Amino acid sequence: MTPVGVFSGKEVAVFGLGRSGIATCAALKTGGAKVVAFDDQEAGRDAAKTKGFEVRDFHDIDWKKIAALVLAPGVPLTHPEPHWTVKLAKKAGVEVIGDVELFCRERRVRAKGSPFAAITGTNGKSTTTALLAHVVANAGRDTQVGGNLGTPILELAPPASSRTHVIECSSYQIDLSPTLDPTVGILLNITPDHLDRHGTMENYAAIKERLVAKSDTAVIAVEDEYTRAIAQRLEQAGRNVIRVSSQESVSPGFFLDGTSIIHATEKDAEPIADLDGIGSLRGRHNAQNAAAVIAAALTLGLSPEAIRRGLSTFPGLAHRLEEVGRKQKVLFVNDSKATNADSTEKALSSFECEIFWIVGGRAKEGGIAPLASFFPRIAHAYLIGESTDAFAKTLEGRVPYSRCDTLDVAVARAAEDALKSKENQPVVLLSPACASFDQFRNFEIRGERFRELVRAIPGFQGTGKTA
Ligand code: ADP
Repeated sequence: MTPVGVFSGKEVAVFGLGRSGIATCAALKTGGAKVVAFDDQEAGRDAAKTKGFEVRDFHDIDWKKIAALVLAPGVPLTHPEPHWTVKLAKKAGVEVIGDVELFCRERRVRAKGSPFAAITGTNGKSTTTALLAHVVANAGRDTQVGGNLGTPILELAPPASSRTHVIECSSYQIDLSPTLDPTVGILLNITPDHLDRHGTMENYAAIKERLVAKSDTAVIAVEDEYTRAIAQRLEQAGRNVIRVSSQESVSPGFFLDGTSIIHATEKDAEPIADLDGIGSLRGRHNAQNAAAVIAAALTLGLSPEAIRRGLSTFPGLAHRLEEVGRKQKVLFVNDSKATNADSTEKALSSFECEIFWIVGGRAKEGGIAPLASFFPRIAHAYLIGESTDAFAKTLEGRVPYSRCDTLDVAVARAAEDALKSKENQPVVLLSPACASFDQFRNFEIRGERFRELVRAIPGFQGTGKTA
């Protein structure tokens, strides 16, 4: 835990009592603050009471005595409208912040300048966070990883000069962190998302910009108009910016050429790492993630050799192009996290070989029509879930398909067909391009079921990696 002493002797209100809210209460209390907690949900209130925190309705507290309102990132700060607690805090002139802000304040007091990497972007945050943490830990450094991914930031060990924090930040968390100042900030990409919570694209991009605006070094993938403009703006303001790209050469910077990441300086351009054969980093999107990680890891003082070793041993994250294993020449890949066509596009474009594609569930607007340019790569599609009729219509006459209804039938048929393929390395790919809710509680459970079914195939060999 990171005890937060910066509010010692003061009273702090914590709203939103999920895992990160409870961790915040504990960190503040241990640091000497008086904590009062609340949640609209009874389950949250009960969790706080069980842990011994004072729970009171924030309608009834004396806001004049409150030093800060710490809000869970899931609670609306501005859109569609501020949550009632935010309105009460604003009316009383009380600042509204989040757990990442508490960490930043504590770090400045306790271990100013300790290694701290923060990562954001519309897509690729978790992969990049996990990859950077793996590379740093693999180089033998004491590494703490969390934030939006996995462990709440205040549950991690405190900042220290010999300890590196690698923290995923959602836009909600950045919005609640006015003084976010990492050693290295990574901004991957900005595409339309969460506009219900941020109002406009401009506002959403401005929030993302704040993660890199005060970074000692800003690593920015310059592959969309928003991130390009941000890189330019920060550079003009005299900030230290490193550009990366998986699309075109950038100099100075880091870019993808074939399967190599090239490091271009004012003087020359040299390959720094080759992604060929790293199963957990397939696809151009992962080249963007890897290039950003290389730039950040060098900034944190790692050697190119240590970085290469880390990249090549990255196990990957569960449910994102996860290699489950092989039967004979057939590779089985779990991409259950792909809940829309955009994500599935990344998966389909990552394989040059014949694809036996398991697809379907609760469809998003537009279905799989945007994926038409990848249809020639698909040997056969196995349709599951309530999207079956709609997807059959899209595929009709273009891709052979089977109506499988459920995942077990789809896996059995896809495996059987792929094993008969004459190609060298066919792949059975679960990349549903749909939400899971029609048949599974969430995408994790869908992916776990896929793994189970694949592992039960006689003669199957797992990768031995754990995600
Ligand atoms: P996030 O944490 O931002 O949701 P993840 O690392 O969990 O991102 O990846 C989620 C999905 O986003 C992946 O399955 C992949 O389809 C896609 N993705 C990953 N990295 C990138 C990237 N750099 N650019 C675009 N899409 C990406």
